[in-house]
Amino acid sequence: MAKRDKKRRRRKPPAKKSQSALPTKGNHHDLLEIFNAINLWYFDGKIKARISWGRRVPFPPRYHKTMSMAHCHVENRLIIISRSLDRSSVPRLIVEYTVFHEILHLKFPPRIKNGRHNFHYKEFCDAEKQFANYAEAEEWEKNHNYLLHFF
Ligand SMILES: [Zn+2]
Repeated sequence: MAKRDKKRRRRKPPAKKSQSALPTKGNHHDLLEIFNAINLWYFDGKIKARISWGRRVPFPPRYHKTMSMAHCHVENRLIIISRSLDRSSVPRLIVEYTVFHEILHLKFPPRIKNGRHNFHYKEFCDAEKQFANYAEAEEWEKNHNYLLHFF
C-alpha cells in the first residue's frame, strides 16, 4: 500500500483503530488477554491481528439460529467478538474457542468453490480439532443451541 494514498482516501473509511483504541476489557472476559494466550499456546505468538468486542446480538438467538457471535475481517485482520459472549454464563473456554476459531480464518482464508465462498473446508476443520478442549467446547455449543461463527 502506497503511503501517499493516505491523503486521498482520508474521507472514506475512518482511520484504522489501533489495538489500544479498541474495547477488549469486558465485564467478565478480557479479550486481549485471551487472544494473547491463544496466540501463544497455539500459534507461537505469531498471529498479527486486532481484536475487539462488537455489538450485542440476541442471546441465545431465537429467530436466527445462525446469528453470529463472532466474525473475522480477514483483509483487515480484525476479529470481532459479540458482547453477548461477555457474560458469566459463558465459560472462558467458549470465548477462547471462539477466538481460536476466528484466528483460524486468518490462517486458512476463505476459498472460492463453484463461485461461492467456502469458509470451513476440511483443512480448517482439521485445524479446529486441535483445540485442546474441542469436544467440550462443541458440546457446550450444541447444548446452548447457537453457532459461534459468522461465516
Ligand atoms: Zn468460521
